[in-house]
Amino acid sequence: MTGLHHIFAIKDLESTYLFIPYIRKVVDTVGKKIELKGNGLSVPDNPTILQIDGDGIGPEITQNALRVIDSAISKAYGKEKSINWMKVYAGDEAQSKFGERFPKETEKLLKEYRFLLKGPLETPVGKGFRSLNVHMRLLLDLYANVRPVRYIEGLDSPLKHPERVDMVIFRENTDDLYTGIEWQYDSSEAKVVRELLKKNLDVSIDKDAGIGIKTIGKFKTERIARMAIKYAIDNKRKSVTIMHKGNIMKYTEGAFREWSYEVATKEFRNHIVTEDELNNEHKGSMPKGKILVNDRIADNMFQQIVTRPESYDIILAPNLNGDYISDAAGALIGDIGVLGGANIGDYGGVFEAVHGTAPKYAGKNIANPMGVITAGSLLLIHIGWDKAANIINSSLIKAMKEKKVTNDIARFMGVKPLGTKEFADHLIDIIKS
Ligand code: NAP
Repeated sequence: MTGLHHIFAIKDLESTYLFIPYIRKVVDTVGKKIELKGNGLSVPDNPTILQIDGDGIGPEITQNALRVIDSAISKAYGKEKSINWMKVYAGDEAQSKFGERFPKETEKLLKEYRFLLKGPLETPVGKGFRSLNVHMRLLLDLYANVRPVRYIEGLDSPLKHPERVDMVIFRENTDDLYTGIEWQYDSSEAKVVRELLKKNLDVSIDKDAGIGIKTIGKFKTERIARMAIKYAIDNKRKSVTIMHKGNIMKYTEGAFREWSYEVATKEFRNHIVTEDELNNEHKGSMPKGKILVNDRIADNMFQQIVTRPESYDIILAPNLNGDYISDAAGALIGDIGVLGGANIGDYGGVFEAVHGTAPKYAGKNIANPMGVITAGSLLLIHIGWDKAANIINSSLIKAMKEKKVTNDIARFMGVKPLGTKEFADHLIDIIKS
């Protein structure tokens, strides 16, 4: 059975709760859980995958994306396979229904089912509630943020040769400055840290400075390096570039570089060649079938991905660098609105558009659902349903060629835009044809 589905059963007999979603445990009678089996996943033909609509434009883009994804699955596998989408609540919708932005039941279901396709969720800057996105990543230990960036013909790229952009960024997702260890400049905690550092290490920190702690660990570096290199091998890519600022931050970013090379040379020896080996042992000529592992300093990379994007293939980066380079790489193709991303761990994944809630377009049937649709195709690839993912990708390319697009792209093409729903309808027509 395909399509949206929620079944809410009642644990006790309080009939008042009968049709109030979420008050009691959800009983899933339709789909089956994706399980962890050995080093891989065991995916049933009708897996239950969670879905969150999101804030702002979230509901309209997510619901339309689900229709497109379901249609591609049906085209690829007929009645043999389908996803049982189970809606769970977070953000504004959860706040207004249940008085909290991330209800306990959502957390419980996420821990149980572990795979989620979501719309964007609002996070206020500098104050207010903590990012739900970060919370979910930590909850499921989704240590890799994976973002493929590839040009689609028709986008208004600032580059002369945007067709040369084809990168996949692996950003470490759980470490670095994002662990949230920080104190406001005038807090009692900041005072304690200042005094401790002065007393024990003779290090002075300005009284008016907020303090944050940067951590980069060996275990966390090794597992993301392993995932990125394995991806490069499995997908026959050309190179893996370690992005770092190790010349300045020697014991954090420098260590990230060192540990990544160690994983490459110790665990993937027969598959890779380092840049030193390329120059010293292979006279600059890449041996056939091998993957080049090199490293670049972060600031240099920002100019090089613009001036010669073809030099970059798989990018392996710690959290903060990865955050920045992901958007910069997205800008190269002209529109980050079309990109999807995946947060994945050894067991679980949250798949989402790269863009945010674009509140000014909320409820207007204007926004582009391509980001969530592409995230859906990454989800399908992750669970091994590549055929359906390819159908989605081909339909997007075709719609772009036909210039049947939403306003964000139509305004650059000088054509009449389709609404969010009409664009999804058109993709479904392409898929069915
Ligand atoms: P944003 O929501 O991505 O919007 C910035 C601009 O991008 C929009 O004004 C619009 O540009 C364009 N845009 C983005 N998505 C679009 C779409 N699907 N269709 C058409 N145009 C689109 O970025 P933001 O304003 O910085 O962030 C707003 C909120 O989203 C914040 O609370 C932020 O924390 C949150 N956010 C959430 C996630 C997530 O859940 N993963 C990610 C990023 C941001 P034009 O004005 O040029 O038309």
